[in-house]
Amino acid sequence: MFTNNINFIFYFMNTQDYIEKEDLYGAHNYHPLPVVLEKGEGVYVWDVEGKKYFDFLSAYSAVNQGHCHPKIINAMFEQAKKLTLTSRAFYNNVLGEYEEYIAKYFGYDKVLPMNTGAEADETAIKLCRKWGYKKKGIPKNSAKIIVCENNFHGRTITIISMSSDPDAYNDYGPYTPGFVSVPYNDIEALEKELKDPNVAGFLVEPIQGEAGVYVPEDGYLKKAYELCKANNVLFIADEVQTGIARTGKLLAVDHENVRPDILILGKALSGGVLPVSAVLADDHIMLTIKPGEHGSTFGGNPLACKVAIAALDVVKDEKLAENAEKLGIIFRDRLSKIDSEMIETVRGKGLLNAIVIKPKGGKTAWDVCMAMRDNGLLAKPTHEHIIRFAPPLVITEEQINESVEIITKTIKQFDIL
Ligand code: PLP
Repeated sequence: MFTNNINFIFYFMNTQDYIEKEDLYGAHNYHPLPVVLEKGEGVYVWDVEGKKYFDFLSAYSAVNQGHCHPKIINAMFEQAKKLTLTSRAFYNNVLGEYEEYIAKYFGYDKVLPMNTGAEADETAIKLCRKWGYKKKGIPKNSAKIIVCENNFHGRTITIISMSSDPDAYNDYGPYTPGFVSVPYNDIEALEKELKDPNVAGFLVEPIQGEAGVYVPEDGYLKKAYELCKANNVLFIADEVQTGIARTGKLLAVDHENVRPDILILGKALSGGVLPVSAVLADDHIMLTIKPGEHGSTFGGNPLACKVAIAALDVVKDEKLAENAEKLGIIFRDRLSKIDSEMIETVRGKGLLNAIVIKPKGGKTAWDVCMAMRDNGLLAKPTHEHIIRFAPPLVITEEQINESVEIITKTIKQFDIL
């Protein structure tokens, strides 16, 4: 703080001040890495002290197109000047354009627009149950959905009811019934549960992101899809984190040529600019939901629609899936060559990757992330020993190499402890 000669008081908040303010006035439902960001551009973010970092989290894969992509920001400004929200009580002149665009982009008859990933998952669950009663003939209130252990689909009561993470569900009961859990990547367990005639759907993340970037065996998704078909069960892919070019294909299920009956998208659908999510399905499923039965005030608002069109344009125009595929191979190859006792495994697909850390001398993944921060790269541990690396997909080979240098240097710091 300083006072100038005409008695104006200038107070420059520093990192600690911002953190204390959040701590004082905000709920304590997150445990952020102590860095306060104020600017982002492409693969970089800057903190309030002016320090520049590689962003290797991309807001949990919401910023696939890079921070503040000019095309997306421009689309937002242009639409914001005209009309932002009508609610669905009226038609607007942008929603239909967006619906056609996204339906054709992903190859489905229809889209149901929502805002957050969790809302889209909830929507998919409702849609699946409705289909189960109206089309499959499941007796009233008996529909079941198979989910996977260690899933992450969001934070609502229904979603935590299918979670196997005590931090997610403890003390938040009573829970929503109607879910059956099977181990991830276990076809036999799935096959057994699919025999129950009251099963309406199988909800799966093609790669379990929050669980620690668990990639199932090749062929798992294909086999799971075929078993669902054989048992008249909907295959529902939660691609909120894995979709939109992150894993080196437009969708992670594309690696196995699977076309989900219900596709759930979020995060990068807006390039990280607004909460925009979507559920896609064909008519025989989507039209089981009737007017008045589901919706959201903001879902499908014209601002979000224009932003999402621009965000999806960028993915195609800039060949982000191809870039993620190519640079992902280089990134994993270079990470797996780091000679350190601290790295147990490197895994991932495209630019959704993780290293598993072997804690050393009491130092954990959190300590490694703190040291990477000091060295100019931001990543976040998921669970105790796993660090996820998910940079914006606009990253170049040169920037990947620079990032690997930072990661290597950081890991080596721990080796000499
Ligand atoms: N589904 C998956 C696979 C996710 O990774 C997430 C968030 O990380 C969600 C759903 C929830 O999305 P949101 O935080 O936008 O509600």
